[in-house]
Amino acid sequence: MTAQAVREELAVVIGLEVHVQLETATKIFCGCSTDTAGDEPNTHTCPVCLGLPGALPVLNEAAVEAAVKLGKALDADIPERTRFHRKNYFYPDLPKGFQITQYDAPVCQDGTLELSVAGERRSIGIERAHLEEDPGSLQHVGGSIDTADYTLVDYNRAGTPLMEIVTEPDFRSVDEVRAFLAKLEEVLEYLGIYDSQRDGSLRVDANISLVPAEEVAADGAIDPATLAAANRTEVKNISSHKGAQKALAYEVSRQRNAIRRGRVVEQETRHWDEARGITVSMRAKEAEKDYRYFREADLPPLEVADWKAKIDIPELPDARRARFQREYGLNEEAASKLTTTKQVADFYEEVTERFDPSLAATWVADNLLGELNYRDMAVTDVADRLEEFARLVELVAGDEITEKNARETVLRRMLDEGVDPDTVVEEAGLGRAEAGEVEQAVAAAIEENPDAVADYHAGEGGALNFLVGQVMQKTGGSADPGTVNELLRARLDE
Ligand SMILES: [Zn+2]
Repeated sequence: MTAQAVREELAVVIGLEVHVQLETATKIFCGCSTDTAGDEPNTHTCPVCLGLPGALPVLNEAAVEAAVKLGKALDADIPERTRFHRKNYFYPDLPKGFQITQYDAPVCQDGTLELSVAGERRSIGIERAHLEEDPGSLQHVGGSIDTADYTLVDYNRAGTPLMEIVTEPDFRSVDEVRAFLAKLEEVLEYLGIYDSQRDGSLRVDANISLVPAEEVAADGAIDPATLAAANRTEVKNISSHKGAQKALAYEVSRQRNAIRRGRVVEQETRHWDEARGITVSMRAKEAEKDYRYFREADLPPLEVADWKAKIDIPELPDARRARFQREYGLNEEAASKLTTTKQVADFYEEVTERFDPSLAATWVADNLLGELNYRDMAVTDVADRLEEFARLVELVAGDEITEKNARETVLRRMLDEGVDPDTVVEEAGLGRAEAGEVEQAVAAAIEENPDAVADYHAGEGGALNFLVGQVMQKTGGSADPGTVNELLRARLDE
């Protein structure tokens, strides 16, 4: 193989730093509410989160509880005791001039998250996950960071509790990153410590490098020396799950092209410009020593051992998926669909208490989720209408309306107009046709269509379908096609 050919065989190596906002009622070191959506800037502030002189932080226990839950879910080591540090740097969104974070004693270390990517199991190492405070947010008016006329600062976000989750450089493709972020969000939501709908609740920085493919073992392992020798870029400012996919795909192809053209990939920090869909070089990043980390003297060390013992975590998505397959006899695909969010899984379990589990699975996984998705709605939007939904499934199970009418008319009107299923059935006349009515329609169809009857007797297969269609039309779709078929055959073959 020529040197050029070797160089083209490149493997992708990615590591992530994911910032996740923890869902707590108040900020991490003060009593300000974190529910700031739609509120005026700088209305959720106090001397603590504004960094005024003399103000002292008090640790929010709910944030520690959330961190311990996440640590347990990631199967991480949670130390007996942890502590906080100050990370010093100047930026307008950081009024104190330092960020309270964790340094040498993070609350979680050495965890893992198991994924399934294209049918293959992958295990992603979590180097650490630590608690810290979110800075405020900046709004550049009239342009981007370099071209804006001026910049506004909003401290509503300052002090929102964050977990920074640092992975090992274990990702070998952008698809694996996508699967990881989806799985992480799933776990966080199951734990009830995260709100994916909140703006900026998940932000990603990624380290990306390309190494010669032959350096990667079959199980994805790479020699640390190879990793250290490869130049990597850090891409910052990825503010969403979707953005991560685009930013990483862009950066991988940028590096690949540079290497193919014989250029060197600079070791640098790059900024993801979401609007332009590209990464751009940023000024040199501070090195760790520049932050002058030192112990946060205003907060005592935190004994985590007690928390660890008393906090339990709920059944997580993988376990619930396995249980659904075992307990309800669902296949893997249905079990997966029904456990993507805790809300969907809860909804399914409520419905399934009353019906056959596979009928409930079809109705929740295929019909309801499909129709909700089409309307950009979530199962939480109909959670208070569980009774109505159960009634709809009951109508189908009792053979009172056809499957097709239930799906295409009743369910859709329930979602679009907020009406209950019995009202739709009555208004649209969808109740099963009476036996006598169907027989009359069969007789009429035969009488009105002598040509089709002759074709049927001549052995033309299409003729029967035509007659079934006529009967269905006469009964307004409320007859059961199977029954109509049988009745017609019986009459025609007399
Ligand atoms: Zn405050």
